[in-house]
Amino acid sequence: MYTSSLTRRVISNTRRWAISMSSSETSEMRHLLARVNPMTGSNEWVVEDATYDYHQEIARSAYTDMLHDDERNKKYYEGIRRAIRVMHERGKKAHVLDIGTGTGLLSMMSAESGADSVHACEAFEPIAEAAKKIIAENGFADKIKVVSKRSTEVTVGPDGDIPHRANILPAEVFDTELIGEGAVPTYLHAHRHLLQEDCICVPHSATVYAQVIQSDLIWEWHKLQPIKIPGHSSVKPPAKMDACSGAASVHDIQLSQVSPEQFQPITSPLAMMDFNFSRGDFRESGLATVDADVLTEGICHGIFMWWDLSMDTEGEIRLSTAPSWAHPDGEEAQWRDHWMQAVYFFDQPLQVQKGERIHVTLSHDDYSMWFNVGHTELPKVDIERPICRCGAHVVWSRPRIGMLNDATRTGKYTQVLQKVVKKESLCVSISDGSMLPLIAARLGATQVYTLEPNSLCRRVMEDMIKSNNLIDDITVLNQNAQELPNEIFKNQKIDVLMGEPFFISSILPWHNLHFWYARTALASHLADSALILPCCARLRGVALEFEHLWKFHAPVGDIEGFDVRIFDSLVQRSSHISDAATEPHHLWEYPSRTLTADFDLTEFDFTRRVPTDTVVQKGTVEVLGDGLCHGIALWMEYQIDENTWISTGPSHPLPSPTRDLRWDRHSKQGVHFIKSNPRVTPGGKIHFEVSFNPSQGSLHFNFEVL
Ligand code: SAH
Ligand code: ZN
Repeated sequence: MYTSSLTRRVISNTRRWAISMSSSETSEMRHLLARVNPMTGSNEWVVEDATYDYHQEIARSAYTDMLHDDERNKKYYEGIRRAIRVMHERGKKAHVLDIGTGTGLLSMMSAESGADSVHACEAFEPIAEAAKKIIAENGFADKIKVVSKRSTEVTVGPDGDIPHRANILPAEVFDTELIGEGAVPTYLHAHRHLLQEDCICVPHSATVYAQVIQSDLIWEWHKLQPIKIPGHSSVKPPAKMDACSGAASVHDIQLSQVSPEQFQPITSPLAMMDFNFSRGDFRESGLATVDADVLTEGICHGIFMWWDLSMDTEGEIRLSTAPSWAHPDGEEAQWRDHWMQAVYFFDQPLQVQKGERIHVTLSHDDYSMWFNVGHTELPKVDIERPICRCGAHVVWSRPRIGMLNDATRTGKYTQVLQKVVKKESLCVSISDGSMLPLIAARLGATQVYTLEPNSLCRRVMEDMIKSNNLIDDITVLNQNAQELPNEIFKNQKIDVLMGEPFFISSILPWHNLHFWYARTALASHLADSALILPCCARLRGVALEFEHLWKFHAPVGDIEGFDVRIFDSLVQRSSHISDAATEPHHLWEYPSRTLTADFDLTEFDFTRRVPTDTVVQKGTVEVLGDGLCHGIALWMEYQIDENTWISTGPSHPLPSPTRDLRWDRHSKQGVHFIKSNPRVTPGGKIHFEVSFNPSQGSLHFNFEVL
């Protein structure tokens, strides 16, 4: 089912492109598109290339990172060589079908390894076109036939796409969750229609590992915790939110960046399930239970999951996606972003005792997995896939839930509000799904308004307000600031205008300046002495040398002797068209080293209205470290009190070159990549220019290494 796959991909932020995209318009047509500007909140028309969407997919996909994955490339090559050798030793011809050929890599490896025939299929048309060119460029045009189709549409026979069934199937159709890219239906269909009985698949099989863990860090991504307010009763999540099994989408992260101090293993890693691709003896859905010894008393919060591949039938060539702390190669393990590790959250926490045996269950359907844990064996019938029934897990991403659970952050707002909020204060909150109005009401305010134009978010807030008995004190408005009728506050003026600020539609850190636009729209409603919280924001940055993240943009050039420069130019063209210069990333997952101190780029004064003219800020930063400048990390800081700031970047100042950045895990930072990766040395200078265009609601950057 493509729909389920597509929704899943969209939810889980696909690392490759939408795999169900079958054909695309490749002309250079330009057209007008309506979209909402995340900063101003208003509708605007933009001229876009008709092919913008897939160019963005290509530019932002982890395809380049996948091609930089040396271990993967080498082990596929060796697996293919062995499969062809085995087939020849059996006295048979080696007929290869490569499913999802991408750049044509596995097909070229097959041809080079002596395959007797090679057919390749690829579902994503622009890439299939690139594959044909790359294959020709490398001199394999007469050996490899590319079929621009999804494998499930490939026909077999004298007049078909392939003349007869194949006996070797190399494929790399796996994502972090192993099966989320459709590997199960792809293999099942191939065995039914495209492969011979005694075929060999490369990889031959996969094993899924799961480790039960206790971790507050992890749990706080999953369940909203009560918000403590000194001297008052806390704000509690509604019962149905507590009971909710959460979002269905997988949570994929760079688990190597979660250090062993941040979780407690409850079991050792358990081999949960094997998929034998060569036999294809699995089903569209399945279930496996493993009994495990509890290593230490604790609470089961969730599962860390990874998998390994056996590239050959003998199981000699193995590729593991374990995090470095569980990887056979330890710190030497290959870095990759196209396969990370997955976190699964249990429905409810489960207390267990040391020495006890628990039952861990893995269930899967055609595109996803989920896990359960119990003291007694769970019935061997279908266990329902988690689904959010409370609404919160649909509107709040995991990092957003983590942000709402961040007691230090909430504590800062509470402290400030405690000083200013009075019973009769008119308090207005502008943020999506924020706890600020509930906190203000708990602190005694009886006239609190919150703007919730997003209907899903509004419903969650209404539930929160009802279950905390604050219906009389908080009014939820369904308009945004620009749409509010004049008499909405009954001729009373706003005393406290507050925002975190946080908006669901924000992608880059400065998109939350939407708060400033809303504040400007409400100017006539503000009391003369109104408190604007936060009163000011600043945009900060630091120059970085990344350990790995640069690979996203580095040309691949050559893989195992095959020239894929045609692919590099496609990516370059796509990133030019989709203008992906500044990208959002959770930088805690990507180790780096600073090359400058952290510096201010520009400030935004929320006590005044948004200006009408473009504001340009220039400056120069001194280089302190030696290294390649891959880019500038950018984040916002908000001032909520004379000396209280909330940072969405590093949690402490960075005066000298350091690797210890401690990024805010709940926010994405912006990264402005400097694709030429200039070398910098202490004493050097980086010049910056940032221009803020208020009417367009856009920020533009220019960085120059002097
Ligand atoms: N084989 C290449 C590319 C791997 S990425 C390599 O190893 O470098 C996976 C590719 O498979 C993507 O381009 C995706 O579009 C394609 N794909 C996934 N499932 C497919 C299917 N069932 N049929 C055809 N293409 C598929
Ligand atoms: Zn829910």
